[in-house]
Amino acid sequence: MKRNIGRLLWIFGLFLLVFSGTLVLETERAEAAVVVLDPGHGGAGTGGPGCIYPPYMEKLLTLEVASRIKDELSAVPGVTVYMTRTVDKEMSLVERALYAKSVGADLLISIHFNASGPHDKTGTEVWTSAFPGYMQTGYALGQQILSRFTALGFSSKGVKMKLGNSGDYYGIIRYGVSVGIPTVIVEQCFIDYPADRAIMASVGLSGLAHADAQGIISFLNSDAGKALGSGVPAPVTPAAPAVPAASAAAPAAAAPAAGGPATKYGFPIDAAGNVTYTDGSGVSAVFSQADWNWLLSNYSHTDDPEYFLKSLPVSDLQALLQRHAAGQL
Ligand SMILES: [Zn+2]
Repeated sequence: MKRNIGRLLWIFGLFLLVFSGTLVLETERAEAAVVVLDPGHGGAGTGGPGCIYPPYMEKLLTLEVASRIKDELSAVPGVTVYMTRTVDKEMSLVERALYAKSVGADLLISIHFNASGPHDKTGTEVWTSAFPGYMQTGYALGQQILSRFTALGFSSKGVKMKLGNSGDYYGIIRYGVSVGIPTVIVEQCFIDYPADRAIMASVGLSGLAHADAQGIISFLNSDAGKALGSGVPAPVTPAAPAVPAASAAAPAAAAPAAGGPATKYGFPIDAAGNVTYTDGSGVSAVFSQADWNWLLSNYSHTDDPEYFLKSLPVSDLQALLQRHAAGQL
C-alpha cells in the first residue's frame, strides 16, 4: 500500500511537471520569429574589449552568454536564432544592425555587461528605443527579462530609454530601429560590483543566459511578442546607418573653437588633440589623441563614452594603456 501511494504520488508529480505552465511557456511558440542576438563588443580595436574588471572582460562574457541563449531559444518551435558574431572579432554597430536586417530579424537583442567608474553601481537594466511601437515592444521584452534577473537576486534598474541628437542615444538601438527592427540592450549586471559578482559566481554565465532565454521566450509567447512583425510602425526618425560605429564610439578630437579652449567631455584638448584628463581625486594626466580615443572606446557602451569617464582614476587608465601597448588588450 505504501509503495502504491508512493508510485501514485510520483506519477502525479510527473503529470504536474509535464503540464505545468512553466514547461508549456518554455516551448509554446510556434509562429515564426527571427531573433538576432548581438554579443556586444569584440576584437582588439575600437570598442573591442568592452569593460574590463578582472577576471572579466566584457567581449568574452557577451559571446559566451549569447551562445547559451541561442542554444536555449533554438529549441523553441518556430523560433530561428542568429548571432551577429560567433567569434571574437571587431564589428561596427552598423554592421550588426544590417546583419540583423539581412536575416529578417523580428528582434535584435544586444547583450552587454556593465561597469562604473567608482565601482558603486549594481543591477540589471534594459535599454529600449523611445519611439512608438519599438518602445512598447522593448518595454514588454525588458520587463520579462528583468523579472528573471531579479529572481536570481539582481536588483532591477528598469527598462530605460534615452534620446540623443539623432534619435535614440545608443547606437545599436538607433541603427536597429532605422532598419525597422525592435532593438534592446540588456546590461546583464555590473562586473565590478561585489553583489553582482557574487551572483555571477553562483549561477554562472549559464544561469544568466537561462534568465535571458526564459524572459525572451515568455515575451515571444505574450500578446506583445505575437504581434511582432505586424504591429510595429515605420521608424519615426529614421537615422540612416551611414556613420561608422567606430567614429561614433570614439569621436575624433574637436578642433579648438575660436574664443576659448576646446574641450571633450569637459576635458581640455590642445591643438594636437592631446587631452588633459583630471580624475575625481584631482590627479591629472595628458593623453595623446590616439590613447584617449582608445580609452574612450574601452569605456563606451555603444556610443556613450562619457558615461565611464567621469571619475576613473588616472592610474587605472594608465594601467590599461600599458597593457594595450604590451599587446595584452
Ligand atoms: Zn558593453
